[in-house]
Amino acid sequence: MPRMTGLTIPEVAARYRSGAATPTQVVEAYLRRIEALDPKLRAYVTVTRESALARAEAANRRLKAGTPAGPLDGIPLAIKDVICTKGVRTTCSSKILETFVPPYDASVITRLTAAGVVMLGKTNMDEFAMGSSTENSAFFPTRNPWDLTRVPGGSSGGSAAAVAADLAAGGLGSDTGGSIRQPAAFCGTVGLKPTYGRVSRYGLVAFASSLDQIGPFARDVRGAAMLLQAIAGHDPLDSTSTDVPVPDYEAALGQSVEGRRVGIPNEYFIEGMDPEVEQAVWVAIEVLKGLGARIEKVSLPHTDYALAAYYLIAPAEASSNLARYDGVKYGYRAPGNKDLIQMYGRTRAEGFGAEVKRRIMLGTYALSAGYYEAYYGKAQRVRTLVRRDFQQAFERVDLLACPTAPTVAFKLAEKEDPLQMYLCDIFTIPVNLAGLPGLSLPCGFTQGGLPIGLQLIGKPFDESTLLSAAYAYERATPWHRRVPELA
Ligand code: GLN
Repeated sequence: MPRMTGLTIPEVAARYRSGAATPTQVVEAYLRRIEALDPKLRAYVTVTRESALARAEAANRRLKAGTPAGPLDGIPLAIKDVICTKGVRTTCSSKILETFVPPYDASVITRLTAAGVVMLGKTNMDEFAMGSSTENSAFFPTRNPWDLTRVPGGSSGGSAAAVAADLAAGGLGSDTGGSIRQPAAFCGTVGLKPTYGRVSRYGLVAFASSLDQIGPFARDVRGAAMLLQAIAGHDPLDSTSTDVPVPDYEAALGQSVEGRRVGIPNEYFIEGMDPEVEQAVWVAIEVLKGLGARIEKVSLPHTDYALAAYYLIAPAEASSNLARYDGVKYGYRAPGNKDLIQMYGRTRAEGFGAEVKRRIMLGTYALSAGYYEAYYGKAQRVRTLVRRDFQQAFERVDLLACPTAPTVAFKLAEKEDPLQMYLCDIFTIPVNLAGLPGLSLPCGFTQGGLPIGLQLIGKPFDESTLLSAAYAYERATPWHRRVPELA
């Protein structure tokens, strides 16, 4: 019997086209893998076995009739549990939404369904996407497939771990300050945060609306390009989605990096970062140089202030977005209250975890009368300065290359201080503040066998350049072929 798992998205698609495998065979093989291995990893919150098998059957028929729904027909994916799925529980890994079943699909789900994709299930995350380790899930932590004593990163740790461990061919996550790229780096997969406005947020449970963006995980760059193709584009249901033409991302993979100007931001190589990470990233930059890229040093002088600005802006938006969880219309409601005010208070006290409460308090404080200008207003101005840093750099270079995170995956329960956790996103947060696309891909392993991520940052709506540079790098290096041993 031919291999049904352990393949990249383009490899699975090629087997469907040649008739070497059917979606039912592949989906059944994935469901068996999930059953056998997910108890160790706990990447999934919900496995949608029945609907996955039914959709695989439908894909079989289309492929057999020679009328596939598109290049992704029958491809099995893992979806972060912050993306609404009609009729399928969408929890945000929070007690407050533990039993919430959305009456509608997010636009990305509508698009993927039309493309024939088979959802295998919904993946674990930090509660409401607040965190960098998936330990803030109200249900259970997810483990890193390369070392089960370590975290997969977060907040999209479930999708990253599922893709890295081959419990799905690809997946979707969301990225507000690094939640796709950092877990991609920690798990050794490709992860892409698109330009703000490139992908519809309709049906993405809001954390910080001016920063949130949905994006793909895959084991290779081409797979990420195929997924982005399917989800990108204007959506009348999201007024912040942009009506900019969507290029052919797979065609763009053929572009050479010869002559491309790659900027190396000084501020992204800092004291205290893991020397093995720094070393691997410099070697990766040498590889890009060897492929013909022109390497230039650049400076992003306001980088130091980005984290502080983010931790005012993101909590401020979160405190407003999360006001809707009041126990009235949907979600958890604390029982046995004497009046409405007590019901609100107890519902939110019992329904939200500690980190979510911390963000709500921070945000409410930052927005409160008398402090608004001093905190929120100031943070917004810093955000403008961060964006200008990038604009200036992009006058000289086509893309930037730097580490995705300052360290590799850390141990479960290792980071007790919230600030230590916040520092994980020091190299990813500025990209969200500026609304730019960012991609993480594997660029090596530590002596201890943990993956290291290289981050590429692009101009607005220039995902093509990131994908083509990543693809050239991937073809020149062996990292994406390494797989974790789980069985
Ligand atoms: N770790 C960051 C935070 O906790 C980013 C999370 C994200 O991108 N969703 O806010």
